[in-house]
Amino acid sequence: MAKRPSKHLRPPRPLNAGHATRAVKSDGSWVVRTIPGNRALKHYTCPGCHRTIAPGTPHVVAWPAAPTGFNQAASPADERRHWHSGCWNRKH
Ligand SMILES: [Zn+2]
Repeated sequence: MAKRPSKHLRPPRPLNAGHATRAVKSDGSWVVRTIPGNRALKHYTCPGCHRTIAPGTPHVVAWPAAPTGFNQAASPADERRHWHSGCWNRKH
């Protein structure tokens, strides 16, 4: 399928890029941040599909909004997980 670049088809820039937002999933509340491609400098393993998120790939990072209770010694930020945007959106 041919892709024609068009000024009318630019992807919209999310207004909340780079800012933390709150998401509620079946396992609780999460704080979610969007990582733009130019800030993604490392390889991460996505917990949704167990595949690598390559450097330069825009993705999201999520961590529990409140301590889970299972591991109270750890700060919630230590439970950060990097997700493919699509895998995160598919998570319930
Ligand atoms: Zn994934």
